[in-house]
Amino acid sequence: MTKREISILGCKLHTISMAQCLDIIGSHITKRQSMHVITLNAEMVYQARSDPELLRVINQSDLVTPDGIGVVWGARYLGHTVPERVTGIDLMYSLAERAAGQGWGIYLLGAAPGVAREAARQLQQRWPSLIVTGYHDGYFTAEQIPPILDQINTSSAEILFVALGAPKQEYWIKEHRQQLQVPVMIGVGGSLDVIAGTKKRAPQFFIRFNLEWLYRLLTEPSRLRRQLVLPLFVITILLEGFKAKK
Ligand code: UDP
Repeated sequence: MTKREISILGCKLHTISMAQCLDIIGSHITKRQSMHVITLNAEMVYQARSDPELLRVINQSDLVTPDGIGVVWGARYLGHTVPERVTGIDLMYSLAERAAGQGWGIYLLGAAPGVAREAARQLQQRWPSLIVTGYHDGYFTAEQIPPILDQINTSSAEILFVALGAPKQEYWIKEHRQQLQVPVMIGVGGSLDVIAGTKKRAPQFFIRFNLEWLYRLLTEPSRLRRQLVLPLFVITILLEGFKAKK
């Protein structure tokens, strides 16, 4: 299955819809081909400009979805067609639904103690046939990693959701990919908190008007430092567009 690939400030991005994304992931599971999925936002793109290792991790991954509205806007501004946002949380719900129908097992790794277990409970309540092969919180020591990898492998999950926050989760997947037998590995940021109910997703109004970033800033003011890169991202895209039109 081909996926349309573009570059946004040097980062790989696949301009695909949620439906295409699910089909691509499904085909990797059927063929048992390993894949690393990244849901890309403007903060990551901007960080990758001064972090060559992050840039490499993004560009060596297999599927990069347009998670944030900044990335969608930037790609469109540079003349690319982007059908829709494919966010980590939406991808996780859609994959959980498909996994329940197809009998794929999922493993949840990340968030504070108790959150992954509660997220598993919530998902199974919504899709009773969903197989959650295991879960583990995201606050572990280096010594605990080998047993966690063993647990994931022996659980025979088809999809591993890693919720350690970006870009920690992307580095973690890259570092342990060779030791993991699970076909699909996806970084999903704070999604386990949202599914478990420990954090609220923005109300529909904010999502509809692409203001989810504003809601997060209002409810988590500590993110201000991270979000200060957003205007810088916008300026860089505008300059890029200007250079391209010259
Ligand atoms: N987290 C974790 N281990 C860590 C650091 C963070 O499991 O060492 C979790 C944290 O509890 C939270 C998630 O990673 O559930 C980060 O959520 P955030 O919404 O900040 O994700 P981002 O916006 O970075 O994708």
